[in-house]
Amino acid sequence: MSQRDYYEVLGVSRDASEDEIKKAYRKLAFQYHPDRNPGDSEAEDKFKEAAEAYEVLSNAQKRAQFDQFGHAGMNGGGFGGGGFHNAEDVFSSFGDIFGDLFGFGGAAGGSRGPRPTAGADLRYNLKVSFRQAAKGDEITLSIPRKAHCPECHGSGAAEGSEPETCQHCGGSGQVTQSQGFFRVSVPCPVCHGRGQVIKNPCPRCKGEGIVQETRDLSVRVPAGVDNGSRLRLRGEGEPGEFGGPPGDLYVVIYVEEDDVFEREGQHLIYRLDVSFTQAALGDTVEIPTLDEPTKLHIPKGTQSGKVLRLRDLGMPGLGGRPRGDLLVEVQVKTPKDLTREQEDLLREFARLEEEKQKKPLHKVKSFFKKTADKVMGE
Ligand SMILES: [Zn+2]
Ligand SMILES: [Zn+2]
Repeated sequence: MSQRDYYEVLGVSRDASEDEIKKAYRKLAFQYHPDRNPGDSEAEDKFKEAAEAYEVLSNAQKRAQFDQFGHAGMNGGGFGGGGFHNAEDVFSSFGDIFGDLFGFGGAAGGSRGPRPTAGADLRYNLKVSFRQAAKGDEITLSIPRKAHCPECHGSGAAEGSEPETCQHCGGSGQVTQSQGFFRVSVPCPVCHGRGQVIKNPCPRCKGEGIVQETRDLSVRVPAGVDNGSRLRLRGEGEPGEFGGPPGDLYVVIYVEEDDVFEREGQHLIYRLDVSFTQAALGDTVEIPTLDEPTKLHIPKGTQSGKVLRLRDLGMPGLGGRPRGDLLVEVQVKTPKDLTREQEDLLREFARLEEEKQKKPLHKVKSFFKKTADKVMGE
């Protein structure tokens, strides 16, 4: 069963902002909501499809995974996966977004001030060399991000003053408006939903409570990481609002290609060229590994394409998984630019080979004869 691209489902571009995604989903959810389309199974499918797309794209973590691996990344893949298990899930997600909009979600109509909002998660793409991925490394990142203003500790009020409760909304950050039959809560136009006004703004952040900073963070890249491996740095995302917790920082790893090895999961692949005499007669050769080179015996009569396995010489396993193997793929090279003497020897070889082919024919016959007798006898 093919699935449509989530961005396509919502009709947004791949770099759409959180807001654009939310708006697009809201529009589709209104259009296809089962209450408005009773008995229309096509509308219901569209509604579920949009809800699923929104579930993934509204979550920084799942979106990053989808961006990288598509639908394949949404199932299993280490975290939860997308998709809804039942209709209830669809509606809980639906409830969230309309709750945000109309205030009938969680903390509707309270006068406790605005709801704490968790800070946004941040994503940082980190490129590491193949060898760093193999050995692990400690890397210092400079992350530009928003942070609470250190001078006013995020209040936005200048030293010696405090933010004051907004008189217009009584500190709730919301005001109620009538629209036809509906009474709708909207953010207070005076305090912009903050519930507080700042008469004497902090000079450093100009009353915002937030400054832009660049933070140096040291991350340990564990040995064995692969493309798309993610490191989560808890609480290193953007600060929360109204006392909400900060978001997380996700460091997404990109591993550069290597000149020597190819990678397949935790296994390494090395392509070894051998001469046809080495393949025919057998030989011992030196093979590069992630550490010291090692000796490999090529058995007599090795065919081109044969894979020889060197156990536990691949990439280290992540999270307690076993180490990969080094897979040596033998490629037999046909000799070129032969000397006269070599050519003569090969012709002699070819003649002997032809003679040999003629001899064992009676053996083959007797094998078939035996088989035939056996079949007849049954
Ligand atoms: Zn400040
Ligand atoms: Zn207000």
